[in-house]
Amino acid sequence: MQYIIHPELPVLFLVIPCYNEEEALPVTAKKLTEKMDSLIQAEKISPESHVILVNDGSKDNTWHIIEQLHEQNPLFSGVKLSRNCGHQSALLAGMLTVRNECDAIISMDADLQDDINAIDEMIQKYQEGCEIVYGVRSQRETDTAFKRGTAQGFYKLMNLMGVELVYNHADYRLMSRRALEELSEYDEVNLFLRGLVPMIGFKTAEVYYARAPRMQGESKYPLRKMLNFAFEGITSLSVKPIRMITGLGIAIFVVSIIMLIYILIRHFTGHTVDGWSSTAVSVWAIGGLQMLSIGVVGEYIGKIYLETKHRPRYHVETYLK
Ligand code: UDP
Ligand code: MG
Repeated sequence: MQYIIHPELPVLFLVIPCYNEEEALPVTAKKLTEKMDSLIQAEKISPESHVILVNDGSKDNTWHIIEQLHEQNPLFSGVKLSRNCGHQSALLAGMLTVRNECDAIISMDADLQDDINAIDEMIQKYQEGCEIVYGVRSQRETDTAFKRGTAQGFYKLMNLMGVELVYNHADYRLMSRRALEELSEYDEVNLFLRGLVPMIGFKTAEVYYARAPRMQGESKYPLRKMLNFAFEGITSLSVKPIRMITGLGIAIFVVSIIMLIYILIRHFTGHTVDGWSSTAVSVWAIGGLQMLSIGVVGEYIGKIYLETKHRPRYHVETYLK
């Protein structure tokens, strides 16, 4: 299969996962129609460009709204997943479903908190030969202090645990068809896209924008989901926690050797009760060795865990092209 890499007039698809977004969608659709029309007018993108709305098993009227949008305006396409798979899987489902029909995709959230005017610069970077362009928040003043604090803690924790991320970049990014092709080779079930995408490499760039507050509806990422997300990121990209257990095991084992020497000295200087020495030594030695062994076994289980789960990550029910 051959396609032109970085054509003059790229077919651009915006991929937007939507979960219970009936309040945001009408406003979002209006703004995106204007934006896409102006980009097409300015001959920055091909008239074949589309907005792909992925319904992630919403419980409200979201899919109905997507169907209506699709009927009214050919700009909008819809992908319906069979159930709620979560933001990351919904995004991947959208991107992989349409990847052979476009030259580049830009992923973004349905609430348009990420400034859509950054699209121009993303396209420009794409034209300069970048395969991936990261949207990076230049400031977070509009987020609540709580959201800002937890988000910052999130990046710190991730770094500590050995996961490399683009700082203050969420899932607002442009990916060329080539980068998507490479992404499709990663078949892990534990999806953490912002950790995976940097692994693809190629020429990349960052585009800065200010993040706006959510206008309609409420956040679909409560603290519980955010913690889950962080844990998913760590365990799917790094075996550092398991290594920490191994480290703890080694440390305790070293202490046990020091204890052994101490206990032997006490024993031979005659300061002990009969039987104390052997009991005390074995508690430390066996405890340390056990920790160490669990760590080593865990190391392998961690590896197997990362490799074996080949389940499908989502099921597409309908694709309104
Ligand atoms: N989302 C989704 N599935 C889910 C949860 C969220 O597709 O299970 C979508 C949601 O519709 C939105 C995006 O993920 O387009 C980001 O969610 P949100 O804006 O609520 O997160 P926040 O900006 O508060 O982190
Ligand atoms: Mg949001």
